Amino acid sequence: MILPPATLGMLGGGQLGRFFVSAAHEMGYKVWVLDPDPHSPAGLIADRHLVAAYDDYAALDTLGNGCAAVTTEFENVPADTLDYLAKFIPVHPAASAVAVCQNRIAEKSFLADNGLPHGPFAAIRSEDDVRNANAGLFPAVLKVARFGYDGKGQARVADRDEAVAAFQHFKGEPCVLEKMLTLDYEVSVVLARDEAGNVRCFPTGENRHRNGILDVTIAPAQASACLRDNAQEIAERIADKLGYVGTLGVEFFVCRGELFVNEMAPRPHNSGHHTIDACDVSQYEQQVRALCGLPLATPRQHSAAVMVNLLGELWYEDGKGHGAYREPDWSLLHAVPGLRLHLYGKHHARPGRKMGHFVVTGDDAAAVLEHALAARAAIGIRDA
Ligand code: ADP
Ligand code: MG
Repeated sequence: MILPPATLGMLGGGQLGRFFVSAAHEMGYKVWVLDPDPHSPAGLIADRHLVAAYDDYAALDTLGNGCAAVTTEFENVPADTLDYLAKFIPVHPAASAVAVCQNRIAEKSFLADNGLPHGPFAAIRSEDDVRNANAGLFPAVLKVARFGYDGKGQARVADRDEAVAAFQHFKGEPCVLEKMLTLDYEVSVVLARDEAGNVRCFPTGENRHRNGILDVTIAPAQASACLRDNAQEIAERIADKLGYVGTLGVEFFVCRGELFVNEMAPRPHNSGHHTIDACDVSQYEQQVRALCGLPLATPRQHSAAVMVNLLGELWYEDGKGHGAYREPDWSLLHAVPGLRLHLYGKHHARPGRKMGHFVVTGDDAAAVLEHALAARAAIGIRDA
């Protein structure tokens, strides 16, 4: 076991890393963050911020020498970086697991090879692959295999010609072509798995997106207990097959009552933010526990919760990214009973950038949802 006051390393300095730093600090650890952005949210509160690229080997040596173990909050850390650090210190999750989650072709192939439910897709590496793709895939979504997030690097295509044009627009980058599914709704499971293979799931949450970006999470999901349990079982199988150690997020589509895995995130997940406010252990504390070899906690959600993301457009006068730049009126949110506001300390708000979120908790799930949606409207978030 790695015990306090040991120093832990974090690759990536975004909000997920920032919450990890807070959780680790609470538990008595120190944290060094590596992120090239001098203003990164996690770097700002870390004990040490190494402002360096993920493939800066001098910085990796410093991290490896100064830390007892390393984890990540960012799926695009190069697998070579994780492999390199693993020569010196424990690295969780392992490069092999992260590599599957950071490439949509590898991810979809992993699901197919392991008999896990997923939507119809084709791997696209050339225009010929688009021409030969099954006609039944259209209308479809073309997604770049690497570095897409929050709906970026995706194009909705009605037919084969549009798919060819989109593939050219993505400059021939490897892609997956996914059948456009008619979604009943979306759910996700956040879990933690330790080195001995013990798994602890948080209750399945329900996710609503706006412009391809997570907007609202309702936890637990309003779905049947059976569907929520099935999602947890599938997520657990994924973690086992990946030999995963750490906190993992698994996103699902629900179509005609059936679950399909959408994608995996080898890190805490945006839909698990509310675990800070509504559970007796957060997804970030579980990440610390898994990394340090502490026994995982068995999460208990003590309150119904709804999380609402606050995106950069809210900082502009018209709420859409135009007009004067100003701070939203936070007093409107603080007036709502049971609401907790979390802001990430990001330097500049851009439309679509995740700047913060709020969580409403309470005993009555219907009232919590109603209050959260009213607060969302009051702060100026309009439906797309
Ligand atoms: P990201 O990495 O940006 O989260 P996702 O693949 O999860 O990428 O896509 C973002 C959102 O777009 C999904 O949560 C879903 O709402 C919608 N979406 C993506 N793929 C499909 C699909 N094949 N069918 C229907 N909706 C989709
Ligand atoms: Mg997603």
